[in-house]
Amino acid sequence: MTDVKKIAVLGGDGIGPEVVGEAIKVMKKTEELFGLKFEFEHGLFGGIAIDEKGTPLPQETLDICQRADAVLLGAVGGPKWDNNSKELRPETGLLGIRKALGLFSNIRPATVFDCLMDASTLKPEVLEGTDLIVVRELTGGIYFGEKFRRDGEHGQEAVDTCVYNVSEVERIVRQAFEIAQKRSKRLASVDKANVLETSRLWREVVNRIAPEYPDVELEHVLVDNCAMQLLRRPSSFDVIVTENMFGDILSDEAAMLTGSIGMLSSASLGEGSFGLYEPVHGSAPDIAGQGISNPIATILSVALMYRLTFGYEEAAQAIENAVKSVLDAGHRTGDIAVDKSKALGTEAMGERIVAALSK
Ligand code: NAD
Repeated sequence: MTDVKKIAVLGGDGIGPEVVGEAIKVMKKTEELFGLKFEFEHGLFGGIAIDEKGTPLPQETLDICQRADAVLLGAVGGPKWDNNSKELRPETGLLGIRKALGLFSNIRPATVFDCLMDASTLKPEVLEGTDLIVVRELTGGIYFGEKFRRDGEHGQEAVDTCVYNVSEVERIVRQAFEIAQKRSKRLASVDKANVLETSRLWREVVNRIAPEYPDVELEHVLVDNCAMQLLRRPSSFDVIVTENMFGDILSDEAAMLTGSIGMLSSASLGEGSFGLYEPVHGSAPDIAGQGISNPIATILSVALMYRLTFGYEEAAQAIENAVKSVLDAGHRTGDIAVDKSKALGTEAMGERIVAALSK
């Protein structure tokens, strides 16, 4: 009997529901092609949940996520809720869901499609072959350390503390080694061990764990050097693992190598195989409701879900190949089109990708 996987679907706000809709069509086609079986359960999340339930993350939505094997999320937010108090802001729901589901790592691939190289600000010869993943620690470090103000000798001072413990480092580094094992088996651990004590602990832990993954080639890279090398030789990276703040900055830098926000997928993972999958972009209120958003980031997030949560590698590759073949054939949504008059809408792009899927 086919193993039924439960998917919590949180469309969210703005373009969220429309891009998620196309991703679900792709999932349904892969059910037919690969004999997979999904059960979708929809929940209110973000601004729409504030409007209908008075909170961005209602308990029933959390329950849906907690009984699911994976979550597919669109995007949240919009001008309507921008002036709300903190607890009634859609983004508060994002922090809440990550915390409640124990998601401690954020995974962002940056893959350069040959046919979209001209969308990047870097030269094609630098970009060629770029296919990397940034694994960012999500729940520790300076963003979560103690913060306070005090009166110092020269007036008011502000303090942010950066704290990591061994187990926080260990779990993310193991996850990164395991992801590297499934890819080109190269891992760059990024830190600032020449200056920071948390980085020295990070490096110690990485070195202690590394012998357990003898097939993965490890290098330590200082964060400032990594920022430079990402622009100079991005194709030499495979998996990059780093702490929260360095990862925040480097993942945005890596993302921009590809040139378009409408193409970028992401995953947030915890212990075990459970994961939350979403496009990197937001709810794009400027184009919401017009049917012109690019669904590719969300569709590629499904490929990530298949690979990282379910181990459906063949179906994951089929999705990536379908996206590539549609782009190679010259089809574009407005955000990546040179000739905007020929741009496809959200549904038309989704349909082309579904039609291109094959075993
Ligand atoms: P955004 O990513 O929504 O949009 C930035 C620009 O990129 C806009 O011009 C938009 O039209 C375009 N764009 C984004 N995704 C696109 C797509 N799939 N296809 C075509 N064009 C696309 O960022 P923003 O404008 O800074 O934020 C809008 C709202 O989204 C805010 O309320 C913000 O808080 C929220 N946001 C949510 C998330 C999330 O849900 N994870 C992430 C980022 C921003």
